[in-house]
Formats: sequence, structure tokens, C-alpha cells
Amino acid sequence: MDRSGTSRRLERAVIRSTNERRRTIVALIVPVFNEAGSILPFLHETGDIIDPLETDDFGFSLIFVNDGSTDSTLETLVTAQKADPRIRIIDLSRNFGKEAALTAGLDACSADAAIPIDVDLQDPPEVIPQLLEHWRKGSNVVIAKRLDRSSDTLVKSKTAFLFYRVHNMLSKTQIPENVGDFRLMDRAVLDVLKDMPERRRFMKGLFAWVGFETAIVEYKRAARSDGRTTFTPWKLWNFALEGITSFSNLPLEIWGYVGSAISALAFLYGGLLAGRAIFIGADVPGYTSLMTSILFLGGVQLIGIGVLGQYLGRVYEEVKRRPVYVVRKVYEGDE
Ligand code: UDP
Ligand code: MG
Repeated sequence: MDRSGTSRRLERAVIRSTNERRRTIVALIVPVFNEAGSILPFLHETGDIIDPLETDDFGFSLIFVNDGSTDSTLETLVTAQKADPRIRIIDLSRNFGKEAALTAGLDACSADAAIPIDVDLQDPPEVIPQLLEHWRKGSNVVIAKRLDRSSDTLVKSKTAFLFYRVHNMLSKTQIPENVGDFRLMDRAVLDVLKDMPERRRFMKGLFAWVGFETAIVEYKRAARSDGRTTFTPWKLWNFALEGITSFSNLPLEIWGYVGSAISALAFLYGGLLAGRAIFIGADVPGYTSLMTSILFLGGVQLIGIGVLGQYLGRVYEEVKRRPVYVVRKVYEGDE
């Protein structure tokens, strides 16, 4: 952070406090989990974009949510805050996962609009001016859409594609393809999100569910600037399950139809066997058909119970009404 930038900001802070006029503030919401190496490059690159946009009545705030990092992420943030009072740090008591960290950031934000953004520069800050432009033209939500996924592995992009297809087939809430959390949301949208009581928060789905006037901006996704992704395939699979179970009851309801279809077939087959026994005579070696149908039915029932378990587990967590995250400490900037 250069000194002239800091003094310019201090100057504005003074003007602001002597001036009754309220500044429009856009908050960047940045969840961080073990990202000590990514924070300074992020602040640097983002600063290059947002600093020139600051005026007497328009500015930014940066809300970092430290999601239980075990490295020097918090120290790095606290140091950065000394140089840049726009930074606010929400320190969570442990790792709650990105969705919860994002929720904490959005809850803490009182700005006129918020932009969730990853600290690894995979959500390029260059897109921010375009987001603001559409917002000023009247869109409540401005989605940043990835043009390609060349920065992801083939497996990740294929499974992501499959996930969107399956999710949108099963769910009434359509989530746009290749869209992450990176987007601008107006105060009106943030208020609705804040009021949503659910604990298990699949943010992409919630963002889509709220609706509002939406614009789309396209960008190319970069590779991670530093460190590694903490999303293992197993985490991603559970993330996908979260999305589908949060927004579709079809996997739950389908068993009535599967059961009916199997019962109807079983009934027909039973009739056929009975007819054969009467007219042709009993067929003693029925072992194969017996075994096959027992195994088949057993399998189908277990799948059904498994699906019930997925939903029941979530219902259980919702009714416990535990908080989504726990804040250890808030390091206030100048907000
Ligand atoms: N993140 C977090 N909590 C977690 C995992 C990740 O706050 O438990 C943050 C992480 O620091 C980063 C963002 O979420 O700012 C996206 O994470 P990552 O880059 O690992 O995900 P990917 O880009 O691979 O989807
Ligand atoms: Mg990333």
C-alpha cells in the first residue's frame, strides 16, 4: 500500500466526518482459510482497481472473514488493517467452511452493496468496475460468469458441468452454469439473504432463489495465485449433495414412483407365475428369479433409506438451530 493512497484515504475520512453527506459504500466480502500468502497480492491487485474509483461520496470497505486459519492469515490481516483502515476482520472461532464464512461476512456487512470475492485472485478484481456499472444502471444483482474453465482440471470442469445439469433438472431454483459466489448484490438482496433462517447454507442456490433484477458480466477465470484449493473431491461431492438436497425434494419423492412401478411389475410377474403354475404346473427350481428379485428389492430399499437419511440428517441439523458460525473477535476498521 503506497503512502499517498493511505493519506488520500485519511484525507477523505476527515472530509467525510466533517461532511454530513453519506458515502455510498460497496463491501468486498473475502472469506479466507489458511491464505497468508494470498492476502497481500490480493490487496495489491484489488487496490489497483478500487482505489482510483474512490471519491468523496463513493468508497469501498473490505470485510475479511478468517475461517479458522491455522497459519499466519490473521496476523497478516491485522498488519494490513493498520495500513488500510477500510479493512474489517471477522475472526471465526474455528473453520466453519466457505459457505458459513461467507454468511458471516454478509451478515456483518452494512454497506450499500456487497461483492463476495475469493482471495486467490481467481475472481479477477478487474471485473469489479463492470459489476458497479450494471448496478448503477439499476440491476440488484450482477453475476460474474466464467467464460471458460481452462484453469480447472478436466475432471473438475466435467463434474461441475454434470452437477449444474443434474441440479437444474431436479430443482425449481435454476442456478446459472459457471457462476460462482463472485457477484454484486444490492442492499435489498442482502437484507433478504440475512433474513433467511436456514442453517445449511448453499449460497449459490440461495443467491439464485432470491431472484431480483439480474445482469450478467462475463470473465475469464485465472489460475490460483498462491497456495492450493482446500476443496477435495469428497468436499465437492458433499457440496453438490448440499445443493441438490437444499433445493430439490425430487430425490425424496421419487421413491413413491419407483416403488409403485416395481410393485406393478411384481404384480404382473406374480400373475404370470400363478398362471403358469395352474396351467403348466409348478416350476420347482425358482431359485434364480427368487434371488434376483430379493437382491433387487433389497438394494432399492437401501437406496431409498439412504436418500431419506440425507434429508433427515439435514432436517435434524436445522431443528437444532445452532448458529451457522461463531465469531471470536471483530477487528474494526474505520467503518
Ligand atoms: N475458504 C474458506 N473456508 C474454507 C475453504 C475455503 O473461507 O473452509 C475460502 C478460501 O480461502 C478462498 C475461497 O474460500 O478465499 C475459495 O477457496 P478455494 O480457492 O480453495 O476454492 P476453489 O477456487 O477451488 O473453488
Ligand atoms: Mg480458488
